[in-house]
Amino acid sequence: MTAALSVGLDIGATKTLGLVLDVDGAILAEVREPTKPGADGIVASAARVYDALRVAIGQPLDGVLGVGIPGLVDVERGAVKHAVNLGVDGDWLPLRDLLAARLGVPVALENDVNAATLGAAALSHEGGHASDLVYLSIGTGLAAGLVLDGRLRRGAHGAAGEIGHVPVDPQGVVCQCGQRGCLETIASGSALAAAWPAGDVPPAQALFAAARSGDPTAIAARDRFSAGVASAIRVLSLAVDPESIVLGGGVAQLGEPLRLAVAQALLEQAASSPFLASLDLAGRLRVVPSDYPVAAVGAAFLGR
Ligand SMILES: [Zn+2]
Repeated sequence: MTAALSVGLDIGATKTLGLVLDVDGAILAEVREPTKPGADGIVASAARVYDALRVAIGQPLDGVLGVGIPGLVDVERGAVKHAVNLGVDGDWLPLRDLLAARLGVPVALENDVNAATLGAAALSHEGGHASDLVYLSIGTGLAAGLVLDGRLRRGAHGAAGEIGHVPVDPQGVVCQCGQRGCLETIASGSALAAAWPAGDVPPAQALFAAARSGDPTAIAARDRFSAGVASAIRVLSLAVDPESIVLGGGVAQLGEPLRLAVAQALLEQAASSPFLASLDLAGRLRVVPSDYPVAAVGAAFLGR
């Protein structure tokens, strides 16, 4: 393979997305396939995507393959556990070595939010990478990735950025982590689904549409959600003061309406505080473009 090319895979619960980047980070080829669950299914799905990329590029891809996957990832051991939606639970799965053996290339394995954080860092800085950035993934849950001084911050126990489990409401519902009133119970896709059940339509889309049409219940639910996201941003920003804050994850498919709602909530939280207002958190806010495969792009950068 030309040393300049890099390959990344984003293994999700429903699909595995793979791509090849050129030296400037432009996407040369992109392939997606349904993910089959379980260890054998994940490896087979990844191999199908990887082979299709090889065909699309028309040359061997023999550099390091970067892979992002949900769940708890031990980067040193190249192993994953608690990827429950992928049928990986119980013991550590040595996915890095399984993929390397199957595909015949070295593999770097990373948690998908961390991979997406690297992708967001590349996106946020034309011609280079943002050196201080918080990526807030609003999917089924709520979690953040951190790039500090140009390096991914995983934490001493891999728990850096687990902002979704900061309790903010003592009267709130019990979270799946066992605490009460966590940010994730207010500001996540599952919280939106509970607040605004919408059948086949994504709850975030349905809720924001209803709020836009003036439904007072929807406006209240949207504002509570937005205030929760803003609280997560405030905690993260006061802890590490990032250059930029990027919203991603399934709920960020909302795009600009999400950025506006969260920016408004940040402005309201800063209204009584000249200190908070001076930090201009709303002005640092970005949203990942809805068609941009941020986690697969970040996975490709893992191999560089
Ligand atoms: Zn929690």
